Amino acid sequence: LNRRLAEFGTTIFAEMSALAVRTGSINLGQGFPDTDGPEEVREAAVRALRDGRGNQYPPGPGVPELRSAVAAHQLRRYGLSYDPDTEVLVTAGATEAIAASLLALLEPGDEVIALEPYYDSYAACIAMAGGKRVPVTLRPDGGSFRLDLDELRDAVTDRTRLLLINTPHNPTGTVLTREELTAIARLAVERDLLVVTDEVYEHLVFDGAEHLPLAAFPGMRERTVTISSSGKTFSFTGWKVGWVTASPGLVAAVRSAKQFLTYVSSGPFQYAVAEALALPESYFTAFREDLRAKRDLLAAGLAEAGFTVFRPAGTYFVTTDIRPLGESDGVAFCRSLPERAGVVAIPNAVFYDHREEGAPFVRFAFCKRTSVLEEAVRRLKTL
Ligand code: PMP
Ligand code: GLN
Repeated sequence: LNRRLAEFGTTIFAEMSALAVRTGSINLGQGFPDTDGPEEVREAAVRALRDGRGNQYPPGPGVPELRSAVAAHQLRRYGLSYDPDTEVLVTAGATEAIAASLLALLEPGDEVIALEPYYDSYAACIAMAGGKRVPVTLRPDGGSFRLDLDELRDAVTDRTRLLLINTPHNPTGTVLTREELTAIARLAVERDLLVVTDEVYEHLVFDGAEHLPLAAFPGMRERTVTISSSGKTFSFTGWKVGWVTASPGLVAAVRSAKQFLTYVSSGPFQYAVAEALALPESYFTAFREDLRAKRDLLAAGLAEAGFTVFRPAGTYFVTTDIRPLGESDGVAFCRSLPERAGVVAIPNAVFYDHREEGAPFVRFAFCKRTSVLEEAVRRLKTL
């Protein structure tokens, strides 16, 4: 393994899911639902397979039906207009979109500012692209993790090439506010930075919190690469259909990298996701409402079990502080939790460069059946 990748080892998600299987624990670690997405969308995939749509290499940018559906979604939800032919690119999940964007846009030595704790692939992809990550830490503030805008501003140097933003934010559940996004946009314009924004949890927001796409802020349409995915919104994490929307120059750049990573992906599933994106609003509302109830169940249970709970406004993760349980090391806590309670969780420390900042925080996923969450809570109360 080369020096660029050596520090990353195996992803925490693979490690923890293997631990869950080995110990027969309830897996609230890796974020994937334990029920499948809408039946009509699965049927659409079956139809595409059967009718031979997408069984051979689909077009490099993605099938026209899906590119049009993505553009229609951005317009309908956010009033953002993208040309499906030149401003939309289909990728192998958001994961490939992140990799291709960073590989396409960074020169060796360029600095990338990322919100810490950050999703684990960011650090590895910045490293593969020869960039240098500059973390800006979100810290607990009034019940949620917030961005210090002065710190963000101070992190920008002459070598900063891009801001890598994630809202709703994994693992903290923070949804960036209009004020925070306005400040980020102003900074990007003022310092002439590109922005890559990972919005895979765009539909998973609760309690009236609103997901605002960065591309909609003044001066951002031309400098922003927006990434999303069908994995979270439609509960098909195994399909690996994601997409990028951006100006033609940026999409062409990302496509240049993508063509040598996977060339194309997931032919039949692209047709099915095109249909998913056109589902009526009632699908999205019901999905959100179901997750909100699960969040409330798990958040209340974790609080009763003695954790400090940061109630998430978005995503399907709850971050907790384990110090009230007399613990301080989240990594050790998560390694022993399967044995002690038959539950698997993720230590947030692995998403930090400043490990000590993340040490006491542990993430639990609530995209699981109610009975599974109830059993997990019962077990955690024995701690
Ligand atoms: N970004 C974030 C913040 C995520 O949580 C995930 C899901 N693990 C991804 C990207 C990857 O999405 P996909 O499964 O579509 O590759
Ligand atoms: N995004 C999911 C999570 O944060 C898992 C992704 C993965 O396994 N790479 O749990």
